[in-house]
Parts: sequence; structure tokens; C-alpha cells
Amino acid sequence: MRLQKHLAHAGVASRRASEKLVFEGRVMVDGVVVLDPATDVAGTEHITVDGLEIASPTTQARVVYAVNKPAGVVSTARDTHGRPTVVDLVDAHVRLYPVGRLDADTTGLLLLTNDGELAQHLTHPSFEVPKTYRARVEHPPVKEATLRRLREGVRLEDGMTLPAKARALSREEVELTLREGRKRQVRRMLEEVGHPVVALQRVAFGPLRLTGLAEGRARRLTAAEVERLR
Ligand code: URA
Repeated sequence: MRLQKHLAHAGVASRRASEKLVFEGRVMVDGVVVLDPATDVAGTEHITVDGLEIASPTTQARVVYAVNKPAGVVSTARDTHGRPTVVDLVDAHVRLYPVGRLDADTTGLLLLTNDGELAQHLTHPSFEVPKTYRARVEHPPVKEATLRRLREGVRLEDGMTLPAKARALSREEVELTLREGRKRQVRRMLEEVGHPVVALQRVAFGPLRLTGLAEGRARRLTAAEVERLR
């Protein structure tokens, strides 16, 4: 397989971005910098990007970490403005990639993995992993009629939202469970129904809950937990 495609399959980046990484001299195959993205690889080589080994089905274990993201930390693998990233929260000796995104000002549960296939599976819209958010909002109280609108679907500029779960936790706190993940979706939905978000936290991702993980901390998922995600 071509190196560029192999990097993309391993979840490093898109094919185009993987090609750029190779051109930039950041990729080594068995200890040698390779500058041609079309180089043929068998998948058994020791391949590193910026010195960190990438996941390979034959040479490296797949790992998944849960992190409790604090506000102000970005959920990309690298930030061009030098801000801290979620990857900095994990002391792993492998290259990890966030599974989807949370806004910089959203806190809570985010998964990181070196398993490109699992990440793609979990973020693909057709898989519809339920994600639960708690939002503190302006203009309380949130009325039952508003919750009903959130459940049935809200018209956003990129179309109607899918049916969701919504309940009030207090006068100013709402819990929403969505099976889709459009950009800033919770914030846009709540804004649309007249309750702009003051603070937003993700408390569950599929079968996983945030409980027991302090803010800024990470833990590796057990094999049983990873199995439940698949
Ligand atoms: N919805 C949002 O508005 N922001 C997030 O970070 C996640 C979901």
C-alpha cells in the first residue's frame, strides 16, 4: 500500500494532509526519513510521525483514552495558535487523535485513540452514537414546550435536527442527548429556542459516562469498555 494511504488508514490525517506530512520530512519508515508519499509499505514497518509511532495492526496495540476536557483546551491533535490540546492531557507514548470535536469552551468527555478505524466508525453519521450534554442557559426557566421543540427537531441553517432527548435538570440546566454531531449543534439549538448557552459539558459518549474522571485527567479504557464502543 502507498505510504500516504497507509497513514490515512491509521487515522493520522486525511490522505492529502498525510501527503504533506511526508513532503515535510516528518515521516520515518524503519528509522529513515521518507519523502515520497507513494512509497510502498507492507504494514509491518516501524513508521513514525514526528518521532511517535503510528498504529499498525501488526506492530502496535490499539488504545483508547477518555479525557475530561477543561475549557480553553482545543480538541485537535495540534493547534496552530499554540494553545494546549487534549492530546497534551494524556501521557501516552503513541500518537493519539481525538474522536470528533468539542468546542474549545465546552468541557467534558472526549475520547482519544490511535485506532483510525474505530475513530471513523464512532464519528460516522450513520453510526449515530448518542452523546449527552448538560447546558446551563440564559433566560430561565426552560419551559416544557421548549423541551418539546428540542425533542422534535429545531430548524437550523443547515436543516432540521433529528429527534433528540431533552429534559430540564433545574430552572436553568438542560440535558440533551443527540444522535448527530453538527458543528456547535447544542449551542445553536438552544440559541434557536431562546436560551443561549452559558456553559456546556458533555457527560456521556455512547455507553461511557464522565463520572469518576476529574477535570483535566485522562484514563485508558479497559478492553471491555472498548468492546462496548464497537
Ligand atoms: N455541541 C456544541 O454546541 N458544542 C460542542 O462542543 C459539542 C456539541
